[in-house]
Amino acid sequence: MKTLHLWSACLLLTACAGAPPTPRAAPGVKLYAIHCGRVELGDSGFMADDGSMKGVPAETVVPCYLIRHPKGDLLWDSGLSESIADLPDGMRPQGQPVHFEVKKKLTASLGELGLAPADVEFVSFSHLHFDHAGNANLFAGSTWLVDAEERDAAFSEQAVQRGEVPHYSALEHAKTVRIEGDAPYDVFGDGAVTIHQAPGHTPGHTVLLVKTAKSGAVLLTGDLWPLPQSRERQLVPVYNFNREQTLESMKRVEALARDSNARVIREHVPEDFAALPAFPAPLE
Ligand SMILES: [Zn+2]
Repeated sequence: MKTLHLWSACLLLTACAGAPPTPRAAPGVKLYAIHCGRVELGDSGFMADDGSMKGVPAETVVPCYLIRHPKGDLLWDSGLSESIADLPDGMRPQGQPVHFEVKKKLTASLGELGLAPADVEFVSFSHLHFDHAGNANLFAGSTWLVDAEERDAAFSEQAVQRGEVPHYSALEHAKTVRIEGDAPYDVFGDGAVTIHQAPGHTPGHTVLLVKTAKSGAVLLTGDLWPLPQSRERQLVPVYNFNREQTLESMKRVEALARDSNARVIREHVPEDFAALPAFPAPLE
């Protein structure tokens, strides 16, 4: 989720239905849902290019997810920059009907699990907008799993001109795995945690499928459906990279959810976040 006119504010800071168990789930996979901020929108009109959300306020959550697997840890999406937590009233960009807030730093949450960013082996993002990669620079020592097209766009001339690079600039020289083609990327080699193509929001937007032993499969869908209304009504944000790709990705991810009997988590939707175990308890 973003609006183009929010970049300047971002830069200032960042310089700125219960699924049954699945046979391929790896015992010991744990999914932690970490609160990494909230965004209050006075007007969510930019979230739907059919104009249907014009003037409608929205309350959104900004999550981070830590997946702990016997073979290592994966951070999926890193939330808003934790530097916002140092601002007493969060951030209210002048003239914009929006309020960003971070109540607890990601590093503090990881610390509760006895982890520092340097301990996290793998990092990946649904996409690189500032509310997903806001703390990316803390993970320059991790292996970055990234869609090839997202990686190419990340450090392009256009990204530099739009001022998008600073909040993930440290990843430029990180150990990187470029995910090429349409096939799912199997993070740990046992089918328990897989990254799937879902482009359209950005050139290389992806979603994550996590298979847990007791709670079944969970699908973390990035910004495919940013608002509670987005999925049912197939709303496409006005700032998406490609409208047709977005609609095609919605179909593909719906099929993936059906085939894997996965619980769909719309990452910015508070009720989906609240339905997961409250940190530091994991879904397992
Ligand atoms: Zn977002």
